[in-house]
Amino acid sequence: MDARLEAIRDTVLARNPGEAEFHQAVVEVFESLGPVHDRHPEFLEAAILERLCEPERQIIFRVPWTDDAGRVQINRGFRVEFNSALGPYKGGLRFHPSVYLGIVKFLGFEQIFKNALTGMPIGGGKGGSDFDPRGRSDAEVMRFCQSFMTELYRHIGEYTDVPAGDIGVGGREIGYLFGQYKRITNRYESGVLTGKGISWGGSLVRPEATGFGTVIFTHEMLKTRGTSFDGQRVVVSGSGNVAINAIAKAQSLGATVVACSDSSGYVVDEAGIDVALLREVKEVERGRLKDYAERRGGVSYVDGGSVWDVDATVALPCATQNELDGDAAARLVRGGLLAVGEGANMPSTRDAVAVFQDAGLLFGPGKAANAGGVATSALEMQQNASRDSWSFEHTEERLTEIMVGIHHRCASTADEYGQPGNYVLGANIGGFVKVADAMLAQGLI
Ligand code: NDP
Repeated sequence: MDARLEAIRDTVLARNPGEAEFHQAVVEVFESLGPVHDRHPEFLEAAILERLCEPERQIIFRVPWTDDAGRVQINRGFRVEFNSALGPYKGGLRFHPSVYLGIVKFLGFEQIFKNALTGMPIGGGKGGSDFDPRGRSDAEVMRFCQSFMTELYRHIGEYTDVPAGDIGVGGREIGYLFGQYKRITNRYESGVLTGKGISWGGSLVRPEATGFGTVIFTHEMLKTRGTSFDGQRVVVSGSGNVAINAIAKAQSLGATVVACSDSSGYVVDEAGIDVALLREVKEVERGRLKDYAERRGGVSYVDGGSVWDVDATVALPCATQNELDGDAAARLVRGGLLAVGEGANMPSTRDAVAVFQDAGLLFGPGKAANAGGVATSALEMQQNASRDSWSFEHTEERLTEIMVGIHHRCASTADEYGQPGNYVLGANIGGFVKVADAMLAQGLI
């Protein structure tokens, strides 16, 4: 790492003790930024990096609610409003028992660069709770969401901060959150949340956007090597929103997705995952992959274990952070891997990224490859602002243009800085310079 940045990094790590995921995200970005500071000493003089690593605002609050047995439950809510140089804070809410400040900060930090890469006018933020929606009734989820919003509402707004979904937060949760916001404020402010239902202000393609976008980005990478998704053997981790839509899109482009997973195990389906059945089991019934395997028949289900044991030419990690380590990466490379497109945020550990890059294969980091979700959220905000709603085809066309544009920005930035094909460097520098320029222009705030 550049010596000038090392000192800043050490201060950031010391000021944020015990936040391993935030540290990991910061270090990865800093490792790319040396060459930018050679060209732009004004960024160092204005302490852009130090300011970028300190969220503009961090909100932590108690979320009390009662379960179906009438017992009082207490969770912790978070919203980190990281950077508003380019627009209102924008980023999802995650409901998962692993959520703590370090996770929210890593996600919020990544979001700044991702949102900048989309070219849309959105800043970076993230939030969530250690609430676990799994196994909870709809009524419990609703009471939790209502309590969560009873505090959050005072911090958000269409020009201030616009949350969306993430792990554990889908259309159901966004509906309950929006209902409570409307009730408290007495305002039908569509632009305050994205990922809404189609009949009440949502955008077509938003549910599909992250998974579709990841595949579009990966397709663009494959094209640089004269190939495409057609005929690829693909492994996807996860079986949630991002994973299911990545599977659907990859198969529509001629790939065979032979495996996917959930936190209990993985399924190997050599004929190609049956997307309609997977949606039925996971989205409608909120069931487990084991149920998919039983209903599908003729496939193998592995309880526990790692989906990365299955050979593939393209890997799409779409579950969670640090799910793919150096050993798994080395195994995949030995099995003939050509490309990795990260649908999840930071799913590959630092060791894994090093293995992929050393092997010279195509590696699309999450902050570029999974930006289609937030980009389509920005399209939802546009439709809300103009009280319009676009067709599926038009919205998907916009999403495709945006993902092709992000790929181009990353690739051309990597070329410009003398590291062709390094999408990590391209994404970090491409996002950073845009935010840094805006911060300089807006003065010391
Ligand atoms: P979902 O909650 O819809 O699905 C998450 C999936 O990942 C589930 O299959 C879940 O399994 C699995 N999973 C979660 N945690 C773990 C874990 N610790 N170990 C193994 N498997 C796990 O979330 P999304 O699909 O929305 O999000 C997935 C990833 O994509 C996250 O990293 C998120 O930040 C990122 N992302 C999402 C965007 C969006 O628009 N939704 C936008 C950009 C990025 P199980 O059902 O067993 O819990």
